[in-house]
Amino acid sequence: VGRSSFLIVANRLPVDRNVEQDGTASWRRSPGGLVTAIAPVMQRRHGAWLGWHGAADEELEPFEQDGMSLIPVPLSATEVELYYEGFSNATLWPLYHDVVAPPVFERPMWETYRAVNERFANAAAEAAEEGAVVWVQDYQLQLVPAMLRKLRPDLRIGFFLHIPFPPVELFWRLPWRRELVEGLLGADLVGFQLPGGAANFRRLCRRLLGVPYKGNEIFLEDRVVTTQAFPISVDFGELDSMVREPQVISRAKEIRMELGDPEHVLLGVDRLDYTKGIGQRLEAFGELLKEGRIGPGEAVFVQIATPSRERVDEYRRLRDDIELQVGRINGENSVLGNQPIQYFHQSYGKQELAALYLAADVMLVTPLRDGMNLVAKEYVSCHHDLHGALVLSEFAGAADELRQSFLVNPYDVEDVKRQMLTAMRATPHELARRMRTMRRRVATYDVDRWASEFLTALETPASAPATSH
Ligand code: UDP
Repeated sequence: VGRSSFLIVANRLPVDRNVEQDGTASWRRSPGGLVTAIAPVMQRRHGAWLGWHGAADEELEPFEQDGMSLIPVPLSATEVELYYEGFSNATLWPLYHDVVAPPVFERPMWETYRAVNERFANAAAEAAEEGAVVWVQDYQLQLVPAMLRKLRPDLRIGFFLHIPFPPVELFWRLPWRRELVEGLLGADLVGFQLPGGAANFRRLCRRLLGVPYKGNEIFLEDRVVTTQAFPISVDFGELDSMVREPQVISRAKEIRMELGDPEHVLLGVDRLDYTKGIGQRLEAFGELLKEGRIGPGEAVFVQIATPSRERVDEYRRLRDDIELQVGRINGENSVLGNQPIQYFHQSYGKQELAALYLAADVMLVTPLRDGMNLVAKEYVSCHHDLHGALVLSEFAGAADELRQSFLVNPYDVEDVKRQMLTAMRATPHELARRMRTMRRRVATYDVDRWASEFLTALETPASAPATSH
């Protein structure tokens, strides 16, 4: 494989292995906006994507797929446990999501995180041609920018954090805070979902390292690092045309019928993660039933909770808690042939999800903290009928853009209950007014726009310290 002028470095390759009945394996592009947004750029620039292929203890040669070179980075089973499940998902994930669960601080996890980041940096250094653009993705690889710059000072390096960047006081707890921040500062451009995250990062750099900043720019001794917000988005066009297809429309009708044709269909779609506020949402719905403010058979709440990180303890406990809660609420409020909560611990494809979004009158997105939340933007993209209400947590990144949603503080059960009822009772005119504005925003700022704005910023050199204003 030749070297590339454009490189994506991410924890995972954008493909999943599909094993046929006869044992032959093939690769299928994984669902997800990132790869869709980047694929055209990859094809245009003969790009390469570096990442783990998903199987532990297995080495694979680089291969071509959809006009991209895919370069597998191997991980051992122990590395998956300590770098991925450990430091990434049991330390950084809860810490960056405002410690909604207690982060673990364990030295072997950190050591492994560093070693794996080093492996990614080495692989990137080998794959990039002179002066190439390298775009590193997300919290699993925060040390890569500095490691890569050391090996290859000729590269233009960008980093994007898909999850929130926490306030200084929370980040400060990390025993390895200095190395992580220095890792990120190896990039020319560090992108965040929201301006607030970028501001947290700049303040942290000043407090921790004493480096000055002005506006978006951090001034290191020998170069400038730009920090900026790029709110990630969805493929609006794809969803908008999907929900106009006859089979999706009829599937949406069928879903409502299968649910017993209730007056209101409420929907939640989340990975089963403690950041998503699923328990708070269930509690609010349960109380509305119990108090008789939602009548028997009036509403069905469909909660899809896709399996996630099942080897991490915290996630196992969460699953037990949620399933107990669903059982209790249904037990207390069901009538024969009608259960108010329909709970699914399963994962669905794009078409079925689109039909569900279309079928839902009220979408409940109530995370305690979320970098963006694509589900909220997908729901909006699917409602060209201008029907449908979005109940959205103030702590989801998407709340910055979707101001016309029914905003809630998910910690305030009464607030969630009130907004759920308001959303259910809103007039079609009111819903259309809100939906129209939200759709305009998502249609304009879609995932292509996100990727192209990041890449344009990355390839525009920052102002020199002397000329900054
Ligand atoms: N999703 C999916 N199948 C499912 C449930 C969710 O493909 O059964 C997708 C959903 O369409 C969305 C993504 O998973 O694109 C979830 O992204 P989000 O930003 O909402 O949350 P995350 O899981 O990244 O924290």
